[in-house]
This record gives sequence, structure tokens and C-alpha cells, in this order.
Amino acid sequence: MQKGNIGVTTENIFPIIKKFLYSDHEIFLRELISNAVDATQKLKTLASKGEMKGEMGDLTIRVSLDKDTITISDRGLGMTAEEIDKYINQIAFSGANDFLAKYKDDANAIIGHFGLGFYSAFMVAKKVELVTRSYREDAQAMKWTCDGSPEFTLEETEKADRGTDIILYIDDDCREFLEESRLSSLLRKYCHFLPIPVAFGKKKEWKDGKQVETEEDNVINNTTPLWTRKPSELKDEDYKAFYRELYPMSDEPLFWIHLNVDYPFNLTGILYFPRIKSNIDLQKNKIQLYCNQVYVTDSVEGIVPDFLTLLHGVIDSPDIPLNVSRSYLQSDSNVKKISTYISKKVSDRLQSIFNSDRKDFESKWDDLKIFIHYGMLTEEDFYDKANKFALLKDTDAHYYTYEEYQNLTKGEQTDKEGNLIYLYANNAEEQFSYIEAAKNKGYNVLLMDGQLDVALISLLERKNEKTRFTRVDSDVIDRLIVKDEVHETTLDGNKREMLATMFRSQMPRIDKVEFNVETQALGENVAPILITQSEYMRRMKEMARIQPGMSFYGEMPDMFNVVVNTDNKLVKNVLEDSEATCAADLTPLELTLSDLEKRHEELHKAQEGKKDDEIATADKDALEEVEKKMSEERAKKDSILSDYAGKNSIIHQLVDLALLQNNMLKGEALSKFIKRSIDLIG
Ligand code: ADP
Ligand code: MG
Repeated sequence: MQKGNIGVTTENIFPIIKKFLYSDHEIFLRELISNAVDATQKLKTLASKGEMKGEMGDLTIRVSLDKDTITISDRGLGMTAEEIDKYINQIAFSGANDFLAKYKDDANAIIGHFGLGFYSAFMVAKKVELVTRSYREDAQAMKWTCDGSPEFTLEETEKADRGTDIILYIDDDCREFLEESRLSSLLRKYCHFLPIPVAFGKKKEWKDGKQVETEEDNVINNTTPLWTRKPSELKDEDYKAFYRELYPMSDEPLFWIHLNVDYPFNLTGILYFPRIKSNIDLQKNKIQLYCNQVYVTDSVEGIVPDFLTLLHGVIDSPDIPLNVSRSYLQSDSNVKKISTYISKKVSDRLQSIFNSDRKDFESKWDDLKIFIHYGMLTEEDFYDKANKFALLKDTDAHYYTYEEYQNLTKGEQTDKEGNLIYLYANNAEEQFSYIEAAKNKGYNVLLMDGQLDVALISLLERKNEKTRFTRVDSDVIDRLIVKDEVHETTLDGNKREMLATMFRSQMPRIDKVEFNVETQALGENVAPILITQSEYMRRMKEMARIQPGMSFYGEMPDMFNVVVNTDNKLVKNVLEDSEATCAADLTPLELTLSDLEKRHEELHKAQEGKKDDEIATADKDALEEVEKKMSEERAKKDSILSDYAGKNSIIHQLVDLALLQNNMLKGEALSKFIKRSIDLIG
């Protein structure tokens, strides 16, 4: 029997392996089984070259469980004593401590760097036996044993069959791996698509009320996963079935993209656009990364473009440096190329689906748009491609490309400054009457109710000169798109002021809400009162909600414009009635006011153009006095009108109806409104 020390310069690597790689203990299984796969594939290669004599036989890799051990057996090429010495005993291990300290959280990096694949066994085992017999004729079977110290033993043994058994004597603190269910789920995670069959015990079946083992191997992997096969041989059903295999709980995907590159790097894979039912489905890390069918990770950030991390599927590439840290990945130019390639491939595929079956594309657009918008917002190159197939949907559920929509609207919706105004609603129900008004005027209204639409709107405004988005309820219809047409105002200033005063006085006092009341002639058929919020203010408030540093806008009150329509019959009635009712009080006041105004103008004229020190103090005082009087008289007038308005149930009713339409009538105000309505009916 030979005894020796494993060739490492560090005193004892095993405690280091254990300590540093603590969180990733489970990858021992991947490492040992992928070694078994390698050994089997090497054997196949030798056989194909005629360098291996004899039958290959069954090549299934077997994983078995005992009370204290896990055994992994392969029928690969095995090792001779010299090979054990060379490949197992001599571990190149220079600069170990520095490296370990740097990458202590990254087991992949450590394992890759040192070729510690085999030694990862010591993460879970207190003792490891390796029993192996080379494929070479008359090879002597060997047994290598190591108990986790740098010492090993190597001795001759009996082994009937070619290949290698690795027997792990599981550590006391790792006994979880001896549970069948735990091991089974790890096998599924790491070995699901390995190219050589892996059997974990025998298949079981129910017999006489209990589970019994059958003769059949319980093969846990699919050795020819879909991405390794030629796209031309595959049908839609195959892609859907594979998706179900990957994500049994998910709905059928929208689209898929089969990736297949061999230059300048090797990469295969299938990406699926999932159907998103709610935000909970919107998860990163659903793409699995493989290296020659060995599962590596489901964190693909840095490898696929950020917006595509929301997709599902698999990517397999031997060229992605898997065993390095994340920050290294992001700066690796090969990885950048891969990311660019995938992004391009995705946009090409979407474009071709759009071209070949627009109806289908439209029917999936609502589910698809979140991915596309995310891509457009985060990747310039993707935007440039996607703006040819990205769609806009209007409130009648018609879909348009950006170009089509521009052509559709530019005739009716260009304002006098030459800006193309896109009108939109973000809630078709709440903004119903505004949408109707816009449509009656011959405008089209977009439905922008997606999670990313606020950001998309800003993006489109930046990308397209002279294009603005305006929400349908952000102003009265005639001012949404300002054209040259002038609207005659039929009422004189004094009457308009009276109306504004009366309605202003009856607007509710709501915390952090301000109403700016004005009058306008909007036409007989338009509602008596409209409440709007300016596009600008609303956007600033929306941004303040999602962006820190804009809290200034968030603190500001919500400001609404209340437009009293002087053409509306009810408004006219209110005006007439108020004039009749208040005449006795108002007429003397108005006479006084008009005298004061005249006097004010005279004084003002006399002082105009003069410097401050050229005006006599007496004259200054006189002007001030008149101004004070005027505002007193006006205040009196206001209070007469407010008193009147307070008693006028029509005014209340009109104000409440406008509030109601904007979802602002609540609680006590709402119940008063209902009572008043009933009274008015009766
Ligand atoms: P790597 O797989 O990266 O080469 P490992 O530490 O996993 O590093 O394995 C070291 C070497 O030990 C392998 O290259 C191979 O030569 C040998 N080896 C490990 N496991 C087996 C096995 N099951 N059959 C034959 N040779 C093996
Ligand atoms: Mg290995």
C-alpha cells in the first residue's frame, strides 16, 4: 500500500474548502456527477477512434444511497494508479490564500480556479473512497482513500467492472444529503439535462397498497433537451412541452426563440416570453444557465441584457467563463458580445413574428408589451429595432405601429405650433366622458394603462421631436389641442367674474387640493362644469412618487382647473337667477365700484411715468385709499354672491356632479349629494 501527502502547498485545504464554500455545499453533487459524465464521454470518444477494445455496454451513471454513504458510479474510462497520482494527488495550488480571501463568497470561482471539482466531495464527506479500474486491458483496479487530512492511501483492490465508484462517507453535520428527497431534488436541479443517463435507484410502483421497487432504473435526466436539437426538426408542441417540463406551474408561453450560434462563440438555448398574469410572475432569475448541459446557475445578470432577465428558458454555453466572479463577467468582452447577440436575436424574432402574423402578434401584445417597453427603455439598440414593431393601442382596442399612428393623427391632432398631440387615457372607465368628447371631435385616444407607460411616454417624447402626450382629462376639449380657431365669449367680464365667484365659493375644502375656477364658453352641449388637471402638474406629481429627490412636487397641493361652461343652459339659469335675486344688494355696490374705478384710473394716469420722489405724498395716499376702498367693495360683492351661492342647490348639484365624475366626491359630501338629488327629483 502506498501512502503519501496530497500535493498542496497550503497546510490543509480541506478545512478551507469547507469553511469558504459553506453556503454552496450542494454543488459537490454537480462536480462529481459531471466528472462521471466527462469520463463516460471520453470513453465514447476513445471507442469511436477505435482506441478502446471491447463492449461499451450500459453507460448509465448510478447514484445510490446507504445509511451513511452516497455512492456515484460510472462506467467511464476509469484511472490507473499513475493517473490517480497525476490527476487527484497533484493539485496545483499556488497563491491559494490570497485567492481564497478574494473570492470567499464565490464557490464557482474557487472550484474553477483550482480544479477542485473532485475535492468538493470534502465539503460534505469526512472520508472519501475512490475505487476505479481503467478501460485499458488488464488494468489493475485501485482504491484511493482520504479522510480529509492531506494524507491519502492508495492500494490495489478488486473491481470486476471498468469505471469509477466514488463513495462519500457523509459528515455528521451534512446528513441532510442522506435524505432521499433532498438528494432527489438536487439531482433534478443539477443533472436534469446531463447528456449521459443518470439513475437514482429503481423506479417505484404501488403494489398491494405500498410502494415497491421495480426492475427499471429511475433515470432522472433528459439527455437530449430541446435546445440541443435542430430547430428545423421541432414543432410548436415540442417547445410548449419543454416549457412545461421547465416550469410546470406556468401558463403557456407567448413566444419562444431558439438560439443557436457557433461563431464567434458557442451558445445554444431557448428563451420564452412568459405570460404574465400579475407582478408576482414578473421575476428575474428564471433563465437557467448551463455549461454543456451541466446546470450552473439561474442568475444570468450580466450575461443576458437586463430586460431579458424577465424571460424564461435556458442558455447553454461552454464559452461563458462560469467559474469567475460576477464583476469579472460584466467586463468580459466575450460576455458582452453574447449579450448583444441575444438582444439582437430577440428583436429579429419579434420583428419576424410581427411581419408574418400580425394578428397573432396583436393578440399577444398586451402581455408582451412589458418586456418590449422595458427593453426600449433600457437599451438604445433595442429601441431602434423595436420601434418598428412596438404597438400603440387605442381605447377601441385597435393597434397601430408608431408610424401608422403618426399618419393617422397628424391631420387632426397637430396644434398651431406644429406639435403632434397624442391624447391618451390611463383608465378608460374613469375617463370615459373625456374620451367620448375627444372622439366626437374626431380625435383618437390611446390607452396607456401599462406599468411602464409613464416612462414610455417620456421616452417617446424625447425620441420624437414635436410630439407630446396629453391625457384626455388634462384640459377642456378645445384646449387639449390648441388650434387657431378663436372662441367667442358671449358674456361680459363682470358676469363671468360673478359666475366664477359663485362657483369658487362652493368648491369643497380638501386638504392639499386647490381648485382654480374659471369660465369658458364650451358650447351648449358640453357639461356645465369640467374639472381637469394639467398634464404638467400631474406628471410632476407622478414622478415625485417614483423618484426620490423630486419630493418638492410631491409636497405641492394637487391643483385642478374647474371650468364653468357659460354656454350651458343650467349655468345661464344660475346667472340669471343670481342677478335677479341679488340685484337690490348688488346695484348700489356696483355703482360705487364703478365710481371708484374711474377715480382710480384718473389717479393712476396722473402718477404714471413719474419717479417715486416726483409724486406728492397726498396723491400717493389718495391712490392707496381708493385701492383699499375698491377691495372692500369687492369683498362685499363676493360675500353677497357667496351667500347667494350657498343657498342655491343647483350650484351645489353641479359642483358635486363634476366632483363625482372625477372620483372626488366621497363620504359625507357624497351622502349629502344623494339626499339633495332626491329632494330635487321630488
Ligand atoms: P476537472 O474535472 O476540472 O478536470 P476535477 O477535480 O473535477 O477537475 O477532476 C480532476 C481529474 O480527475 C479529472 O480531470 C479526471 O482526469 C479525474 N477524474 C475525476 N473523476 C473521475 C472519474 N469519475 N473517472 C475518471 N477520471 C476522473
Ligand atoms: Mg470536474
